[in-house]
Amino acid sequence: MEYQVIIVGGGPSGIFAALTLQELGVDRIILFEQGKDISQRQRNISSDILCGWGGAGAYSDGKLTLSTEVGGHLGDYLDQKSFYQLLMNADKIFVDYGAPDRLFGDLTPEVEALADRARQADLELIPTRIRHIGTENCQNVLSRMHDTLSNQIEIRTGCGVEKLLAKNNKITGVKLESGEIINSQFVVAAPGRSGASWMKKEAESLSLKTKASPVDIGVRVELPATILKEITDVTYESKLVYFSKTFDDKVRTFCMNPYGEVVNEEHSGITTVNGHSHARKKSENTNFAILVSSTFTEPFDDPIAYGRYIARLANLIGGGTIVQRLGDLLDGRRSTKARIDRCLTNPTLENVTPGDLSYVFPYRHLLSIIEMLEAMDRLAPGVNSRHTLLYGVEAKFYSNRIHVSPDLETDVTNLFAIGDGAGITRGLLQASASGMIAARAITDRIK
Ligand SMILES: Cc1cc2nc3c(=O)[nH]c(=O)nc-3n(C[C@H](O)[C@H](O)[C@H](O)COP(=O)(O)OP(=O)(O)OC[C@H]3O[C@@H](n4cnc5c(N)ncnc54)[C@H](O)[C@@H]3O)c2cc1C
Repeated sequence: MEYQVIIVGGGPSGIFAALTLQELGVDRIILFEQGKDISQRQRNISSDILCGWGGAGAYSDGKLTLSTEVGGHLGDYLDQKSFYQLLMNADKIFVDYGAPDRLFGDLTPEVEALADRARQADLELIPTRIRHIGTENCQNVLSRMHDTLSNQIEIRTGCGVEKLLAKNNKITGVKLESGEIINSQFVVAAPGRSGASWMKKEAESLSLKTKASPVDIGVRVELPATILKEITDVTYESKLVYFSKTFDDKVRTFCMNPYGEVVNEEHSGITTVNGHSHARKKSENTNFAILVSSTFTEPFDDPIAYGRYIARLANLIGGGTIVQRLGDLLDGRRSTKARIDRCLTNPTLENVTPGDLSYVFPYRHLLSIIEMLEAMDRLAPGVNSRHTLLYGVEAKFYSNRIHVSPDLETDVTNLFAIGDGAGITRGLLQASASGMIAARAITDRIK
């Protein structure tokens, strides 16, 4: 049987491509997902965290950022007004499937006053409206999407795609890991960050043009929630940008989780750190990442390898993630279990090694992180406390960016590349919106 559309990957981008295609009346759609069905996924199995129905979205924090300024590069492919409208449409679909109504971060006079105070501290506050689904609700929302789609399209989980097949620069289908060949008119590649190396290999074999993305490396910061309460009550997630005094590097906060937890994350053999927060279950702490962006040109242009190298160093020294009190870092000594036990911030992540992050980070990164904490302390006194905990390494590996048209079609006819795996997006809402763009373009051609 020949399909009209094959979708590779069952994360938000692939799911939204499928939802849009079926809503626009396209039939004979098949979606391949290498991981498990969402009902079978288990959070404590590392291979299930990023792979399976729902992709990285299933155990994500579920913050939908309703802003054209964060979450990826989709704005490079359409005008601002259409882009904003598309994000609103994607958001509405999440709400229709059970995301909560409440929005945080409207541009109120309190937010404007906070932005003014941030400026006085050398920080730029990027106000963003956020809908918080919460980790446990994400799975419900994605399960409902699965229930809808399973009646309309064919879904094969536990089924990895090995190769994209093309003839005369036009896509013809895919080869599965089982060796089976499936033919189709269109293929939408939506493999996410976990499929980045697969995407890179396929791009090379099809001679697709790609561009390396910057790598973001830093720490996860954890402190008592009261210290940032004024900010998180007003903005939920404050996105703060700082240019470091010494290096003029871009440093930013990322993924702020009020009353949340710090978690470990596995990336093909290396352990990094991340954070999330539940809609109901609350801790006494807030966590967020401080990330430093690095771009390389030549002769070295492999930022992912650089990020992995630094993360591996933490794993080598600490056997996994390292935690350190800021006071110990500044005093030039390692944290020990006794020192962490005395810390006024109770760590929410167990199974971490108290250690010394100065053995891990290059001077450039460490100093930029320290300068950022100093600047943030001027906005929220207590951030730069010696009892603030730093976990390392947090790294954001962005996939190489595939060259695509405004419809997100690659240089191979009828092959579309969307979501985080194509290096185009970095968050749930933009990833979902990218699926909608490709689906609309495919529908126009079919009809
Ligand atoms: C801990 C965590 C918290 C996060 N929190 C947020 C947040 O609060 N807000 C936000 O906006 N974003 C968040 N994100 C990011 C968000 O989850 C991603 O941006 C989003 O899921 C990307 O969607 P995607 O469809 O492009 O890729 P993914 O969600 O990664 O899905 C890709 C899917 O493709 C499958 N796949 C890969 N290769 C193949 C293959 N060859 N054959 C078959 N299947 C394949 C994978 O198994 C995976 O299931 C978070 C991510 C993590 C890890």
